[in-house]
Amino acid sequence: MFAFAARWALRSEPVRVRLLVVAAELLAVVFVAAGWLVGGGPKGDDVVLAAWLLVLGLVHIEAATGIERVRRRVAATAYFDLSSVWTFAAALLLPVRLSALVVVVLYGHLWLRVWKPAGVPMYRLVYTAATVVLAAHAAYAVVAPVRDAGAGQGLPALGWVALAAAAYLLVNNVLVAAAMALGEGRPSARELVGGVDDHVLELATLCLGVMVALALTADRWTAALALAPLLVLQRAVQVRQLEEAATTDPKTGLLNAAAWRAEAVHLLGRARRTHGSAAVLIADLDHFKAVNDTHGHLVGDAVLAAVAAELRAEVRQDDLVARFGGEEFVVLLPDLPGTGVGRREVLAVADRVRRRVQGLGVPVTTSAGPLVVDGLTISIGGATFPADGQDLESVLAAADAALYAAKDAGRNTVRVAAAPLVPQARAAED
Ligand code: GH3
Ligand code: MG
Ligand code: MG
Repeated sequence: MFAFAARWALRSEPVRVRLLVVAAELLAVVFVAAGWLVGGGPKGDDVVLAAWLLVLGLVHIEAATGIERVRRRVAATAYFDLSSVWTFAAALLLPVRLSALVVVVLYGHLWLRVWKPAGVPMYRLVYTAATVVLAAHAAYAVVAPVRDAGAGQGLPALGWVALAAAAYLLVNNVLVAAAMALGEGRPSARELVGGVDDHVLELATLCLGVMVALALTADRWTAALALAPLLVLQRAVQVRQLEEAATTDPKTGLLNAAAWRAEAVHLLGRARRTHGSAAVLIADLDHFKAVNDTHGHLVGDAVLAAVAAELRAEVRQDDLVARFGGEEFVVLLPDLPGTGVGRREVLAVADRVRRRVQGLGVPVTTSAGPLVVDGLTISIGGATFPADGQDLESVLAAADAALYAAKDAGRNTVRVAAAPLVPQARAAED
């Protein structure tokens, strides 16, 4: 299930987030209590089903503890665990007073084995469990009337199950996104919605959940067969997450230098084959040491992240943006529009970035209280391929020289390499 960002601390969250957390928990408790009061004690059959789901879920958590601990540690923002295989099966088969028991025991165990060792605070578990209980209640509300109308055995037709899955996903995702959106972490729209891969994974776990539910209404032992594909799925997710962590700069979320180089070499190779063009920008914050000296390194880090976000937002989706190191960023602009190898486009892009940073105010919290860091400036050097260099290293060297020229010219300045006398480049500049 979708849980929320690793750095979420309740005490440091605004009142509106605390209210949402308490409201979700209360609502979950009210539904469960109402279930007991109205529905009475659970049926014997349902108790047996819940016990099966609990045992299978606990076996799964134990078998996957190692994988999940690594995943939990490298998860940058939102994070999906795979226990919805069991909780969604519970949602399809059991009223909320019993599915809540499955959710609480499984998440409690997950917290002890995975989240707590990773330093996740308890209230986060409680909120996540509450969102899953509410999601399970919504899903059961879809299937229960259909099941009751039938013999009460098995699952209703697939269309109803799909509708239940939609209700389950909607309730869980909206509640998690709401908690993130109300917080002060200023998550991007993509972080709020989650990536395509995450939702494909979520869907895969729900599909397994349906199969577990089906198995439990037929030959119960066959439900255990879900464990093997589930563990393989978990491994695949871990590999993808590690891959992402290995290519991402943790402070800014941009690509790291190594990943950028590999990708940039690939894109320049393509430009060479297609007789296309590209440009490289190297951007270095001016007097950044002064930001650290005045406000401390944590504020410096927040500024770096904010500048990275501005840079990312200013260029096109396909442009490669990386943190090159320290307070230096690098951008590869493939498929330059217009004349292709022209310096004018590069200058225009770089200057938009420069002006954007100049207008930036970064709200931060210091020991002396909240403040806005502004007055930031950046110097940018640019160079184009193939005019200024035939390979990545030489284009980078030309951009670096241009950056030095920009710093020499007084900072808060943009310079683009003057292309050597390559006929193609001159033609473009004419
Ligand atoms: P210039 O205009 O010449 O670029 O001056 P500058 O102060 O930006 O450049 P200098 O290279 O002297 O200092 C770079 C500073 O960037 C020093 C270092 O403490 C800071 N820095 C590098 N990496 C990080 C980081 O990850 N976090 C923080 N907070 N500061 C960093
Ligand atoms: Mg600098
Ligand atoms: Mg520097």
